[in-house]
Amino acid sequence: MITLALSKGRIFEETLPLLAAAGIEVLEDPESSRKLILPTNQPDVRVVLVRATDVPTYVAYGGADIGVAGRDVLIEHGGAGLYQPLDLQIARCRMSVAVRDDFDYQGVVQQGSRLRVATKYTSIARQHFAEKGVHVDLIKLYGSMELAPLTGLADAIVDLVSTGSTLKANRLVEVERIMDISSRLVVNQAALKLKREALKPLIDAIAAAVGQPT
Ligand code: ATP
Ligand code: MG
Repeated sequence: MITLALSKGRIFEETLPLLAAAGIEVLEDPESSRKLILPTNQPDVRVVLVRATDVPTYVAYGGADIGVAGRDVLIEHGGAGLYQPLDLQIARCRMSVAVRDDFDYQGVVQQGSRLRVATKYTSIARQHFAEKGVHVDLIKLYGSMELAPLTGLADAIVDLVSTGSTLKANRLVEVERIMDISSRLVVNQAALKLKREALKPLIDAIAAAVGQPT
């Protein structure tokens, strides 16, 4: 049995065509089903639905053999125990710094003042500001980061941006692009050895579907 960990929403939707290219069809729709384990047309392949941030944990500890996770989530997790053979080029966005449209970000950076930064991505933010030599106080949040600069909780946020319309709707502006983000295939290192016969063709078929040789 091969267990594939996916999160509901964009990652599930954008992974479906890649699975189809490998001959795998998920037999239930996670939006209408309450099940957390979904069967596929292949009796020895099942999908488990977990939170996006839990995908690396499931795969690293063997609760799933393989999964799909964003680069953001993988950096924050650290990636121990995971083999990352493929960038799937799905769920693409960028990690950016944003501030209120009346906040002088460059001024604060140039003066060397402390910056209060709210984010869900504390590792990425810490690393980014350390490289710039900017002293930051990091405030960990789990959602609705856009609210932090509007309420005075923080001067800046580090968050994912795709179109920028959420920032705009909240009078925020993107002042720095930290990195491009897309989702990757992650594989349990032990499973890759023990279940190689089943996993290798699956990884190869997905690689062919995204146009990358393994
Ligand atoms: P939830 O929204 O349920 O709290 P989440 O934010 O972790 O969970 P998603 O919003 O589905 O889950 O995001 C999953 C992954 O998709 C993220 O880790 C990121 O890599 C990517 N992603 C997030 N937001 C966007 C976006 N606006 N456009 C494209 N990709 C995105
Ligand atoms: Mg989200």
